Amino acid sequence: MKALVIGASGQVGSALLGQVPSGITATGLSRDALDLTDETAIAEAIFDHRPDFVLNAAAYTAVDKAESEPELAQAINGDAVGAMAMALLETGGRLVHISTDFVFDGEQSTPYAPDDQRNPLSAYGETKAAGEDVAGDDAIICRTSWVYAAGGANFVRTMLRLMGERDELSVVADQIGAPTWASGLARTLWALALEGQPGTYHHRDAGAASWYDLAVAIYEEGRAIGLLSRDVAISPIATEDYPTPAHRPAYSLLDDSETRALLGDRPPHWRVNLRKMLQEEQRLG
Ligand code: NDP
Repeated sequence: MKALVIGASGQVGSALLGQVPSGITATGLSRDALDLTDETAIAEAIFDHRPDFVLNAAAYTAVDKAESEPELAQAINGDAVGAMAMALLETGGRLVHISTDFVFDGEQSTPYAPDDQRNPLSAYGETKAAGEDVAGDDAIICRTSWVYAAGGANFVRTMLRLMGERDELSVVADQIGAPTWASGLARTLWALALEGQPGTYHHRDAGAASWYDLAVAIYEEGRAIGLLSRDVAISPIATEDYPTPAHRPAYSLLDDSETRALLGDRPPHWRVNLRKMLQEEQRLG
C-alpha cells in the first residue's frame, strides 16, 4: 500500500515518516514540494501518487498569528483539506486528517467526546473546524492536543530555552489539557489508517496538566538528566495575566476512550513521554 504524508517536515509528519508500518511505502511531501495554498498542486500530487492513504500533518499552526491572518489559515487548514478530499474521491484513497482540541470552547469540566459540540474560540480553531467539515465522509479525523517532539517548534522546547536564560518564569496555570508526544500520536494515526472506520477520533497522552504543571515537569525532568543546569523559579499565573491575541480553551481534555477501545492500547502518562522526549532532545544536542 502507498501513503502520502503531507507536512513531512513538521512534528507529526516527521514522526509519521519515522515509523512507517511494514507493508506501506510512504512518500513525504513538505512545503517546498507541495504548497497547500495551491489547490491545483494538491490535486496533481494525489493524481500523481494515487495513494491508498493521505496523512495530512500540515497545518497553519501559529495560533496567535492566525488572528491576523485568518484567510491564510483558512486556505491551509480548511480549503486545502477540501481539495485533498475532492481529489481522493476520484482516486479512491482515504484521508487521515489531524485536528485539534481548540475546536472546543473549554466550558466543559469532563473530557470532550468526539461528537461533543464544537465552538472554537480562535481563528485557528475555526479554520481547523472548517477542515473537519470538508474532509469528506470517508475521512478519518484524529483530534489531539498540546503536541511536542524533539527538534520541533513547541512549548517544551520554548521552556527549555527560557530555562537556560532566565532566573524566573511565570506560566499560565488555569488552562488544563493533555501534553501529547508526537511519536505516540503517529503510532495511533497509522493504526487508525489501517484499522479505523471513517469518523472522528481522539488521541492524547494519559493524565492532565496545566501549562504551569508542564513547565515544572520540564524543569524537574530536565534537571534530573542534566539537560538544564540553572536554578529557575517558576510561578503560576492566570490567563488574564498573560494576554495573547487568540483565546484558548480553559479546559480541553479529549476523551480518547473510543480510540483506545478500538486499538486496544493505552498511551503512557504524559510525564513518561516527556522524559523520553527530553532524552531524545539531549541526544540530538
Ligand atoms: P508543525 O507546525 O510542526 O507542522 C506543520 C507543518 O505544516 C509544517 O511542516 C509546515 O511547513 C507545514 N505547512 C504550513 N503551511 C504550509 C503550506 N502552505 N503548505 C505546505 N505545508 C505547510 O505542526 P504539528 O506537527 O505539531 O501539527 C500537526 C497537526 O496536528 C496539525 O494539523 C495541527 O493543527 C495539529 N495539532 C497540533 C497541535 C500542537 O500543539 N502542535 C495540537 C493539536 C493539533 P514548514 O515546516 O515549511 O513551516
